[in-house]
Amino acid sequence: MVVDVLYLIAAVCFIFALKGLSSPQFASRGNYCGIVGIVLACVATYISVGVSCAFYTLIAIAIGGGIGSCIATRVSMTDLPQMVAGFHSLVGLAAVLVAFSACFAPELFEIIGINGVYKSSLIEMGLGSAIGAVTFSGSVIAFLKLDGRYKGSDVPVFVNTFLLSFVICLLIYFVTTEIVSVFILLTFLSFVLGAILIAPIGGADMPVIVSMLNSYSGWATSGIGFTLHNDLLIITGAIVGSSGAILSYIMCKGMNRSLLDVIFCSGQANSSNKNGDSSDVSKTCKNGSAEDAAFILKNASSVIVVPGYGMATSQAQHALKEMGDILQKEGVKVRYAIHPVAGRMPGHMNVLLAEASVSYEDVCELDEINRDFASCDVAYVVGANDVTNPAAKHDTSSSIYGMPILEVGKAKTVLFLKRSMGVGYAGVDNELFYAQNTMMLLGDAKKTTEDIIKAL
Ligand code: NDP
Repeated sequence: MVVDVLYLIAAVCFIFALKGLSSPQFASRGNYCGIVGIVLACVATYISVGVSCAFYTLIAIAIGGGIGSCIATRVSMTDLPQMVAGFHSLVGLAAVLVAFSACFAPELFEIIGINGVYKSSLIEMGLGSAIGAVTFSGSVIAFLKLDGRYKGSDVPVFVNTFLLSFVICLLIYFVTTEIVSVFILLTFLSFVLGAILIAPIGGADMPVIVSMLNSYSGWATSGIGFTLHNDLLIITGAIVGSSGAILSYIMCKGMNRSLLDVIFCSGQANSSNKNGDSSDVSKTCKNGSAEDAAFILKNASSVIVVPGYGMATSQAQHALKEMGDILQKEGVKVRYAIHPVAGRMPGHMNVLLAEASVSYEDVCELDEINRDFASCDVAYVVGANDVTNPAAKHDTSSSIYGMPILEVGKAKTVLFLKRSMGVGYAGVDNELFYAQNTMMLLGDAKKTTEDIIKAL
């Protein structure tokens, strides 16, 4: 009874945690709710299993917590997406291990009746193991791709579709026959399926994949919860699974793609080109200095700052805030435009701007601000590239075709801060660099912004 009540309170804490995390203003309160929920969940679990297991579980918590804190404190802000993908893989692996334990020792899980293992438990085991295996290998591939250690490879759609159908058939066969070797084959093929589903996905579709894997890890957790008869795991797994699915849907909408299209028709395997420079030497661009930029900014009446991945790598957010403050004091209207997939993880730009104490009222989402570019004097693009690229609107052969963009080209002047004429994550050249109203400010974004502040 006490355990059930504690689990229920913990589940409510997790719901409030998610609610808080959906807005930067209440994010830290949300985090505290999550921490309270986790502590209550641990206490309830101790009460339910008895203190005899306490010694071993405390050792496990100390080792896991120690490794987790080491990774979390050392990881840089720009490497967070890889870390998230890496952690998702562990949830998947845990689901597979629990399913295997249940398969080999069903009596310990109390899932065995007179006619053998309950059918419902076989379904939970099979599904939990398959989803867990897909989550594990898919997350490992996503980790390697986001970390730039693996570029991806093309896998024909029919291979993915065939393997997926075969895994479903094996699942049904396992549930009806209870043959352990079928369960092992099912898990093995699910590992392969996860890897080949994620391998061809590249470029602009990676954010959706990260949130989709988040969703899978939630469903895998729910599967573990059913096998372990743990209500809290079922609830939290379902919350994570459904919120991840909703986030994937929102991001797909933001990129004008469908989820099935992203998973099965990616065809962008090697489009991620971190160091590439696709600039056409025959085209010319206008280069400017920090003094030129300061002059233009000072004389503007409205400025829209468009942050991207380069702001994160150069950590330019504090300098940007300082520059924004100076301009606002001069009477310039300064706002920040956030694209849903700017940076390398959902909400990446919001987090960095919040860290620099940029006022929430000045931060606008794509739909809110896009029409204002036409009437603004300066679009100040800080290390953003793909999210401003007009190829997404008119080049049907481009890997980012169909993705909504921040229409910075409509501003009177576009100031582009980046280090070179190189491409962004999706590996697509940006025609805006050569536009009449664009001035390139080449160099590290933080250094350039600091130079502009000095000149201001
Ligand atoms: P992009 O990757 O398109 O462009 C970033 C730009 O920043 C590069 O062109 C780079 O140019 C520049 N840059 C890098 N370092 C610096 C620096 N120190 N100073 C100045 N400039 C720098 O980023 P966007 O934010 O525009 O777009 C995000 C892309 O990432 C999209 O394609 C999105 O789909 C993808 N993605 C998004 C995820 C998410 O969840 N948000 C997850 C994974 C991928 P140069 O090298 O010349 O300096």
